[in-house]
Amino acid sequence: MEPSVPGVKRVLAFAAHPDDIDFGAAGTVAAWTAAGVEVSYCVMTSGDAGGFEAGDRDGISGLRRSEQRAAAELVGVRDLHFLGERDGFLAVTPEVVEKVVALIRRVRPDVVLSMHPERNWERIQASHPDHLACGEIVTRAVYPAAENPFAFPQLAEQGLQAYKVPWLWFYGAPRERENHAVDISATVEQKLAAIRIHASQHPDLAGMETAVRSMLRDNARRFGLPNGASAEVFHVVGVNTEQTIAGF
Ligand SMILES: [Zn+2]
Repeated sequence: MEPSVPGVKRVLAFAAHPDDIDFGAAGTVAAWTAAGVEVSYCVMTSGDAGGFEAGDRDGISGLRRSEQRAAAELVGVRDLHFLGERDGFLAVTPEVVEKVVALIRRVRPDVVLSMHPERNWERIQASHPDHLACGEIVTRAVYPAAENPFAFPQLAEQGLQAYKVPWLWFYGAPRERENHAVDISATVEQKLAAIRIHASQHPDLAGMETAVRSMLRDNARRFGLPNGASAEVFHVVGVNTEQTIAGF
C-alpha cells in the first residue's frame, strides 16, 4: 500500500519522544500530506530526559514540544497531541491505553502508525524501552480495545464509539519484520529538515545527516528500488481488511 493510495484519508501517528516520527517516518508523512491525507501526531512523553545540556532540564519539555510542532509543520502536520508521560518511564498501563483508545476513536484513522513493540537486537539504540512501550500500548489500543464497545465503557458514554482500525504500520521494526518500503526520494530533503529542527538533540549535525541518508539509501537497495533512491521501511499489519475474519 503506497502513501497516495486512494482510500487512505486519515493517519494517526504515535511516538514515544519528540523527534521519533521524524527519524522513522517523516518522508512518508510528507508524501501523505502532499496527496491530501490528514495526518495527526501523538507524542507520549515530554522528552524531558533528552538533550545534552545539564543546565537545560527545566525548559527541555517546552523546547522539545515546540521543536516537534515546527518539524510537523514542515511535513504538513498541524494536529498534535502530547500525553505528557515522563521520559524514560513510559509504561503499558490501562490509563495510557485508554488515552490512546480515546484518540483513535476520535480521529478514526485508516492507518495507525506506531513504533514497533519488539526489540531490535542488531541496533539496540533503536529499541529504547519507551519505544517498545509505545508499540505495545498502541497495539493493545488498536486490538481489541478501540473496536470493543465494552472496553473502557466510559469512552462510549462520552460519545467515542468503537472503531475498527484497518491498518497498523510500524516504524523502527526489527529488520526481519520489515515488509514494506516507501520511496521517499521526493521528500527526503523535507525529512532531513524536520530532523534538523530538533536542534537540542543533535551534538553532531553533519554526522547525523550522513548516517540518516546512508540508512535511507540502504533501505531502498534492500527493497530493490532504483539506484540512488531513498526509502523508509515499515512492518505493515492488516488489522481489519477484506481478509479479516471476526473472532480469529
Ligand atoms: Zn525516541
